[in-house]
Amino acid sequence: MRGKLWALEDRLSVREQIALATAGLCLFVSFAIAFGAAYVGREEATRLISREMIQVSETAADRMDRHFQNIYHRVRSYTTFDLIRAAVSTDATKLRPNFDRLNASFPDYNWLAFVSKEGVVVAASEGHRQGESVAHEGWFLRGLQGPAIEDSPDLVALTAAVASGTEIPVSFVKFAFPVFSLSNELAGVLVASIHWGEIEEIRRAMESNGDQIIVVSRSGEVLLGSRALRTHYPSAQIESLRRSHHGVFVDRGPGGDVLSGYALMDGHRDYPGMGWGVIARRNGEVAFSATYQMFWMIVGIGTVVAVLGILLAGAIANRISGPIQELTDAADRIGRENGAMSLPRLRGSSEVIHLSTSLRSLLLRIGFVERMTQEAEAKAAEDARKFASDIASLRKLAETDPLTNLMNRRAFMDAAADAMRYYQRYSRAIATLVVDIDHFKHVNDRHGHAAGDAVIRRIGELIAQTLRETDKVARFGGEEFVVLLREVTEREAHELAERIRFVIAESIIPFDGNQLSVTVSIGCAAITSHDRDVEELIERADRALYAAKAGGRNCVRLAPPPAPPKVRAA
Ligand code: GH3
Ligand code: MG
Ligand code: MG
Repeated sequence: MRGKLWALEDRLSVREQIALATAGLCLFVSFAIAFGAAYVGREEATRLISREMIQVSETAADRMDRHFQNIYHRVRSYTTFDLIRAAVSTDATKLRPNFDRLNASFPDYNWLAFVSKEGVVVAASEGHRQGESVAHEGWFLRGLQGPAIEDSPDLVALTAAVASGTEIPVSFVKFAFPVFSLSNELAGVLVASIHWGEIEEIRRAMESNGDQIIVVSRSGEVLLGSRALRTHYPSAQIESLRRSHHGVFVDRGPGGDVLSGYALMDGHRDYPGMGWGVIARRNGEVAFSATYQMFWMIVGIGTVVAVLGILLAGAIANRISGPIQELTDAADRIGRENGAMSLPRLRGSSEVIHLSTSLRSLLLRIGFVERMTQEAEAKAAEDARKFASDIASLRKLAETDPLTNLMNRRAFMDAAADAMRYYQRYSRAIATLVVDIDHFKHVNDRHGHAAGDAVIRRIGELIAQTLRETDKVARFGGEEFVVLLREVTEREAHELAERIRFVIAESIIPFDGNQLSVTVSIGCAAITSHDRDVEELIERADRALYAAKAGGRNCVRLAPPPAPPKVRAA
């Protein structure tokens, strides 16, 4: 993982790395802010909406309670009417027309009746249940004791009525009060069965902008409102809400979360209430749509900020990495391009300045070392040259005769062996002459050793001058010279020897005011296939020289060809 990260880092430029890191940071920060804001927003929205839901449910509960209180109070006031008190003392049946009229004039009433203290319905609106015994019904028994409320609605009928949306004819709550005669004796119970319609209207009126208003009983049964989602709430939950009078909860159903506010219908003034509750429901999606909108808006703004951040990061990265790039390019040119040997002085950051100055001084140091190396190399080359020339002059010294500056024996023998090889391979003919000054001892004797030396020198010069370029002459010692002739026949060699002899014989050698003159004798030998080596050839020429000396000097003698090897062996 780490290795991969490094490999990625190695591939990316500083600019790309800075841009990527900043982009990531921008995205992270903007999304973190967006999510954070959305979280806080949702919390705040939940709080506000919860309060609103409670308020809605409380308002509905209050309005319903006030409505019930109004009826409760009205029905209760009938028990104080002298008309009724007088009638229950004499003939209660006379009350029916009054009940009919009241029933007709107040749409809340479904049924108004007077029940004798024995439990018989004496007078009732529209004669409903008149003469029936209700002695065992709860509301009657409690009504004898004091104000009583009966709230056991017919749920099946309720559901049907709510579903069909028709006016609900079902009585579902009864207010019962004791009635005392004019002589203040308990005469019976006045009961009003209350109509549903008005409450339903209040409920509907409260259902605005998608909210649902539901009336639930003490046990959690849905009494009013849509039973499509729920027919009842858990009684424990309702019980706990009832204890705190109001509250809010999230109802998690199949259709999604529903934010629900609860308010207890706890009565109004003398009306004690029935312990029902009003639940105001709002769909979670609707409730939090503003929050979601805000979230996406923040995400959008965050994205724009991130994009701007990336662009800015790119520009910053460019600015930061620019000098480094420039430095890299300049360093890359060093040693490739002519004259590129220094780095520019760069600015941009303390690191860049440091790097630039460090590299510049490094280059200076490298340059110094390079100069030293060059100097050392030059010195070594100079030394080598000197040695070579020393060796060359030593070699020349070793191969030169100091008196005449001609080749000495050793150098001559090398050249002669080379010519011999040439002859053996390519049949290029060679010949040798051995030249000796005649009666040289007399020169020394008469004119001194120095004169002798001068004569030897001059004779060497004369021989060399007479020869061709390719021929070689050496002093073998004393006053004796050996000549190597290349590419010559015996006749040509002979002619050349004669010319040398003649030139010398004709020459005057001036020394110390004296005109000296010498002659030479020459032995000449041309190569034959029987000559095994160059020494043999020289030996033959030397023998010819002896013949020349013997023949009177100042002459040339040709060496006879050597005996064939068989004869020699014999
Ligand atoms: P020939 O005609 O028989 O050759 O008689 P020659 O006198 O030339 O021969 P010989 O060999 O008897 O004498 C040679 C002399 O040359 C002997 C020596 O003193 C002299 N000599 C040898 N080397 C040198 C030298 O380098 N310088 C001088 N000045 N004399 C030399
Ligand atoms: Mg000699
Ligand atoms: Mg001699």
